[in-house]
Amino acid sequence: MISKSSLTCESLIRKAAERIGGDSPRLDAELLLSHITGLSRTSFRAWPERLITPEQTESFERLVLDRITGRPIAHLLGHQEFWSLPLRVSSSTLIPRPDTECLVEQALTLDLPESANVLDLGTGTGAIALALASERPNWQVTACDVVEEAVELAKSNAREHGLPVQVFQSSWFASLPPGRFDLIVSNPPYIAADDHHLGEGDVRFEPTSALVAGQDGLDDLRLIVDQAPDWLNTGGWLLVEHGYDQANAVQALFRDRGFGAVESRKDYGNHKRMTLG
Ligand code: GLN
Repeated sequence: MISKSSLTCESLIRKAAERIGGDSPRLDAELLLSHITGLSRTSFRAWPERLITPEQTESFERLVLDRITGRPIAHLLGHQEFWSLPLRVSSSTLIPRPDTECLVEQALTLDLPESANVLDLGTGTGAIALALASERPNWQVTACDVVEEAVELAKSNAREHGLPVQVFQSSWFASLPPGRFDLIVSNPPYIAADDHHLGEGDVRFEPTSALVAGQDGLDDLRLIVDQAPDWLNTGGWLLVEHGYDQANAVQALFRDRGFGAVESRKDYGNHKRMTLG
């Protein structure tokens, strides 16, 4: 326990980091203390002797204890930055990952009409759709998710950033209003049901429905690749994220469904994590 008298930010951060452990304990402690105090992380470095009030110390301690149980930092802060947009997150959706920023980058390299019609399938927080809308104000961006809370979250993130993304509740294409798109993007669930990673880290606190897709992790990708041609304009693109060892299988799904120009692209870790066609 932490004592009731005022402590310096540096000593609070140092002691909390020792207890938090994991990959980035110091960063986690700084983010949590910044969240509680409203002070910037850089200010802790600039003024390590700054005193933190006992009330703030107590709130900080509660978050530190939660973090020690493994709760994702994004859930404790209530937001996660994606493509430099701070997005509200909740336990109803996947926490946006930096890897998925690669998908946004790839989408922005495609040759598309000036006011392209774009669809983000399984949008969660709205991350991909909002990043694309923020980069391409002329695009008509639509997003959908099967989970009602995700739809509300994506809508509220869109409002917060003043981005005109239309969000529908739909299981993939099933309940979308009729239309055709120049680009369909998706980061669907793609983890195999028996993958041991499901017992580790942030995924333990994220909805299984956003992570797991059948025995081989490809159930949702099969459905998306199968139905996407009925929703694409001629010359339109489908771009999906998948696991590091799924590129060949996903390429085969694309080719079997008649897609051309099929190729996989690498993520920041040099793994083939995205396929387009
Ligand atoms: N990349 C995520 C993870 O491994 C999973 C994302 C997904 O299933 N779409 O934690």
